[in-house]
Amino acid sequence: MLSTTELERPAMRPAAATKPYALIVEDEPALIELLRYNLVKEGYEVAIASDGEEALLTIEERQPDIVLLDWMLPKLAGIEVARRLRSKASTRNLPIIMLTARAEETDRIRGLDVGADDYMTKPFSMSELTARIRAVMRRIRPALAEDVVVVGDISIDRAAHRVTRNEVEIHLGPTEFRLLDYFIQHPGRVFSREQLLDAVWGSDVYVETRTVDVHIGRLRKALTKAGGEDPIRTVRSAGYALNAG
Ligand code: CA
Repeated sequence: MLSTTELERPAMRPAAATKPYALIVEDEPALIELLRYNLVKEGYEVAIASDGEEALLTIEERQPDIVLLDWMLPKLAGIEVARRLRSKASTRNLPIIMLTARAEETDRIRGLDVGADDYMTKPFSMSELTARIRAVMRRIRPALAEDVVVVGDISIDRAAHRVTRNEVEIHLGPTEFRLLDYFIQHPGRVFSREQLLDAVWGSDVYVETRTVDVHIGRLRKALTKAGGEDPIRTVRSAGYALNAG
């Protein structure tokens, strides 16, 4: 087990976890640069979208782990971007921090109403923003900060390569382990077979999407071997999700 101080250390990340990917949606070049600089320093891979429509397209191409979303944007307002992301199953749980020049309380409430996870009023300090990002990520993707992650009755220990359910050890093949590891980083989020192929097998490998079903089947069988409900949800015509517990 890790001590709390170890878990608080931002540089502490298990080797199995990939670099977190952040999308900055902002139209002020100076602020974009400042945000980019600070996120890269925090260990993020960063993409930029400078209007609301570009943001939605960028997210559709590859889903980020967190979105910093400006309110006042060309083409499509930030609040509308947030609303659309929340109305789609595949992006419903995507962490969003809204950035805005508006300080009115009603705007703050509107921002949180459409499902932003947090809200920052400009001008804000970068240290406050990075602290908020860490807090949101720790809440939503605990797997980025820890070796041992528990979702519902399932526990995965990356360092020891050990999985248990209700304290009963579960033996998984390497692909099933990576699949579960990926799901557990995003509990509740729905992934298409293509997204799972990219994340677990790698985008440079040619594997039929049917292969995903086979490995999901094996993972399900292993997880339910000692009884208990099937924790993996099949979402018709969309893909698979791990129930958030
Ligand atoms: Ca703006």
